[in-house]
Amino acid sequence: MSWRLQVDPVACDAFGHCAELVPELIWLDEWGYPVIDDGPIPADLYELAELAVRACPRRALSYQRVDEPEPSPAGPRTRRIR
Ligand code: SF4
Repeated sequence: MSWRLQVDPVACDAFGHCAELVPELIWLDEWGYPVIDDGPIPADLYELAELAVRACPRRALSYQRVDEPEPSPAGPRTRRIR
């Protein structure tokens, strides 16, 4: 199990504090709203991501659990051709 960041665009005030704290995962669009890396948070950035979540003045930044798919015992799916 891993985690990724997500932002509530309605609650966000677009001042960009989060992008200053963890620029490796969050950058700003042309209006100043955060764009979140959609991958799982790397272990070495987890503390900074947590700091950004706690520091968000609008509580607009949060975690979302990422469920990684179970590897298939039969290997990768293939398409049957008749
Ligand atoms: S710190 Fe919170 S309110 Fe500010 S830009 Fe980031 S998500 Fe939005």
